[in-house]
Formats: sequence, C-alpha cells, structure tokens
Amino acid sequence: MKQTLSYWLDSVNVIRRVDEDWDRSMDSENWTDRAASQSIIGKPLFDFICDDVTRMYIATMLESVRVLPRTLFRPYRCDTPDFKRFMMMTVTPEDDGLVRVSHELLRTEPMAKKTSFKTVSPTEQSASAAFQSRMAILGTHFIRCSLCNRIRKVGQNDWQEADSVAVTSEAIRVVYGLCPRCMQ
Ligand SMILES: [Zn+2]
Repeated sequence: MKQTLSYWLDSVNVIRRVDEDWDRSMDSENWTDRAASQSIIGKPLFDFICDDVTRMYIATMLESVRVLPRTLFRPYRCDTPDFKRFMMMTVTPEDDGLVRVSHELLRTEPMAKKTSFKTVSPTEQSASAAFQSRMAILGTHFIRCSLCNRIRKVGQNDWQEADSVAVTSEAIRVVYGLCPRCMQ
C-alpha cells in the first residue's frame, strides 16, 4: 500500500488539491481533524495546524522553497497510542506554481507502552494566560514536540520519549510546541 500523502498549496498556502488516496489514509495528530478532502480543498493550510510554533515552522519551509526553488526534507514523528511512526515531510515547488507537500511513512515501531494525548484546549490555555504565567498554571501538563513527538514536563528541561515517561494510562494533557533540537 502506498504510504505517502500529498497536498498542493497555492501562493497564499490555500490547499488546491490532495492525493486521491487522501480520504483513506488521512491520519495525523498535527491536524485538528481527520479532514475529508472535500472539506479541506479551498481552505488555508494553517486552518488545520493547531499550534503556532508548528505553523510558523511550516510557513518558513514553504517560503524558503518559493524564494530559492528546491526540495526540502524534514523527518518527523506522527505517533499513535500504540506505535512510533517515523515520517518524512517533503516540500517541493512544482512547475505549475503550486508547492507540493508530501508526508511519507518510513517505518513504525511498537510503543513500549501505550501513550495517548489530550490537547489542552485554546480556551483553557488563554484562560490560564489571563490568570498568571501560562507555564505556572500548566504545571501538571507536558509540552509535546510537534515534530519529534518527545515530551517534557512543564518546568523541567529534558525531552523524553513518551513511552519512557512514567504516567498513568490516562491521556497525557499536552500543549504542542517544538523542542530545541527540532527548532534548529
Ligand atoms: Zn522535537
């Protein structure tokens, strides 16, 4: 089975078309919904990416291949509760002026133990921010790196594989961001 999904963006990052396999295979936690193709074509890509840091990261890649046409590759992870999924994102400017973004599943590894996540809602986040420092309020939460899927507890510095962190079987409450390694 084909393990690559692609979509094509116009010059203002509106999704113009998607793979024919799209509806069968859409499965990424970086997207707010498992979006059906008919509901995403014609919409801005960034409507579907939850967190600002990831949005900025992808916007930078897109701008970069438009300014200096070339193909960029970025490895990332898109884990499920049971599997580590090693992915590759490829961004390519094409002749028709669209930029193709492809997500390829390279390999999977079973999780040492099941891990699931619940995104702290934007409402909760902004309510917290209104209170005091967001970080202090989110003390019991984890930051999850959108790209490598490692997590770190708020207030601590080390980024770890989610299945190596001792937690309950409940979903881990996270906000998304980028770890320093992926930021570089
Ligand atoms: Zn990372």
